[in-house]
Amino acid sequence: MKYNKITGDIIKKFEILLGAKNVITANDDLVPYSKDETSEESAMPDIVLKPENTPQISKIMMIANKNLIPITPRGLGTGVSGGAIPIMGGIVLSMEHFTKILEIDKNNMVAVVEPGVITGKLQEAVEKQGLFYPPDPASLDSCSIGGNIAEGAGGPRAVKYGTTKDYVRGLEVVLPTGEILSLGGKMHKNATGYNLIGIITGSEGTLAIITKIILKLIPVPGYRVDLLIPFNSFREASSTIRKIYETSIIPVNIEFIEKKAIDALKSFLEEDFPFSESGAHLLVGIDGNSKDGVEKNYEKIGEVCLKAGAIDVFVADTDQTKERLWKARRSLHDALEQKSRIMEREDVVVPVSKIPELLDFVYRLSEESGLEIVPFGHAGDGNVHINILKMNLSHGEWKRKIEKITKKLLTEVVRLGGTLSGEHGIGTVKKRFIHLSWSKEKIELAKRIKKAFDPNNILNPGKIFE
Ligand SMILES: Cc1cc2nc3c(=O)[nH]c(=O)nc-3n(C[C@H](O)[C@H](O)[C@H](O)COP(=O)(O)OP(=O)(O)OC[C@H]3O[C@@H](n4cnc5c(N)ncnc54)[C@H](O)[C@@H]3O)c2cc1C
Repeated sequence: MKYNKITGDIIKKFEILLGAKNVITANDDLVPYSKDETSEESAMPDIVLKPENTPQISKIMMIANKNLIPITPRGLGTGVSGGAIPIMGGIVLSMEHFTKILEIDKNNMVAVVEPGVITGKLQEAVEKQGLFYPPDPASLDSCSIGGNIAEGAGGPRAVKYGTTKDYVRGLEVVLPTGEILSLGGKMHKNATGYNLIGIITGSEGTLAIITKIILKLIPVPGYRVDLLIPFNSFREASSTIRKIYETSIIPVNIEFIEKKAIDALKSFLEEDFPFSESGAHLLVGIDGNSKDGVEKNYEKIGEVCLKAGAIDVFVADTDQTKERLWKARRSLHDALEQKSRIMEREDVVVPVSKIPELLDFVYRLSEESGLEIVPFGHAGDGNVHINILKMNLSHGEWKRKIEKITKKLLTEVVRLGGTLSGEHGIGTVKKRFIHLSWSKEKIELAKRIKKAFDPNNILNPGKIFE
C-alpha cells in the first residue's frame, strides 16, 4: 500500500479541528511518540494528534482515510510488541486526554471509563467502593485501560480471575472510515449477533479506535495472603504447579521466579530476597471472603508444596510483607533490563502441564547457544516470560543467534500445544513468526476481517501480519 504525505493543508484542518496545542509537528516533540517499551525498535511519526472527544476522532479518521495517511493509536506507550510504533510514519493518535472515570455503577457492577485511564488508578477508585477490577499487568501504574484492551493484557491474577478480555462489557469505537459504533452495554449477557467486542479486544489497534469502555466489576475479596515457596530446582518448582491444582483450590496467582531472576532483582533493588540462594520460587496468592477459609486453603497448599520438595513456605499476610514481594515481582522486568538493555522478551503460553517440559527445553537452548536466558512469569496459567539477554554480544552475532533461537523456541511452544503470545500481542516483533502458530487459512480470514473494518489499510498498518 502506498501512503500519502501529510500536506500543510491537512495540518491546517487538524489545527482547526483540535486547536494548535493538540497538533504536534516539531521534531523534538515527536521523538517520545516514536517508540514504546520494545527493545531496539523506533520510527518517527510525521505528526501527533491529541483529540479530546470522540467526534474529533471520527473527523480525524475521515481525513486520514480519504487522504491515505497511516494512523497509529497510542495509549501510554508501555507495549512490548511494538504496537504503538508508527512504522509507516503518518499520524500518531495519542489518547492521553481521554483520562476520565465516567461512572462507577454499583447497581450494575460496572465502570464506564475513557481509554486513557491508568489501570492502577481505576483499581484504586473501584476498591474505595468495595469493588474489584482484577486484571493486573505488572505495568499497571503506567499503562492505560485502552492499551490493555487493545493488547488483551493479562497479569498474575489471570489464574483465578481471567484477563482484560473477560471484563469488557461494552465499547464505543471509531472505525477507520470514521463511523462511531456503540457495542454491548451494561448488561451481563449478550447473544445478539457477532461478538464484535471480542474481535476488537486484542486487535492491537488495527481494527478500530476505542473511545469509551464499560468494564465488569466484582466484589473485592475480603482477605488475601501470599506464599513465597522456595525450591532447590526449577524442575521441582515447576512440577509442583500441577499438584497445587490437584487440591481443587484455585489460587489467585502462581508466579514462577528462578535464581537468575532473583540475582538480578537483588542487584537492582539493592536488598536481599528471602531464600535467595534457592533454585526457584513459586509465589502463590490465595484469597477469599473469610480469614479462616483462606488460612485452611493456604495451609493445604503449603503442605502439598513441602511434600513436593519445597524448602520452606514463607507466609506474607500483612500489607507490608505482601507489598515487598509484589514490588520485587513487578521489578523483574526492569532488573533484567539493568543487566542487558537489549533483550528478546518471549511471552509464550503452553498448557500448564507442559511447563516443566518447556523449561527443560529453555535451559537446553541456553546451554547450546551460550546465551543467557531468564524465564519467569505466570506459571499458573502457562504464560512464561522467557527473556533472552544480549549482554555484551556484538550486534551481528546477537542478530544471527536470536533469530535462530527464537524460531526454535516458538516451534517447540507450538509443538507443546501452546502459542506465541499470552498477553503482550504480536505487533511488529512476532509477526514474522505468526505462521508457526496460525495456518494460512486462518491468516487469510483475519486479513479479510481487517479489510472489512479498514478497506484502505490506514489503521496501524504493518502490525500482526506481514
Ligand atoms: C515493565 C512492564 C511490565 C509489563 N507487564 C505486563 C503484564 O504483566 N501483562 C501484560 O499483559 N502486559 C504487560 N506489559 C505490556 C504493556 O504494559 C501492555 O501491553 C499494556 O496493555 C499497554 O498499554 P499502553 O496504554 O501502554 O498501550 P500502548 O503501548 O500505547 O499501545 C499498545 C497497543 O494498543 C493500541 N492502543 C492503545 N490505545 C488504544 C485505543 N484507545 N484504541 C485502539 N488501540 C489502542 C496501540 O495502537 C498499540 O497497538 C508490561 C510492560 C512493561 C514495560
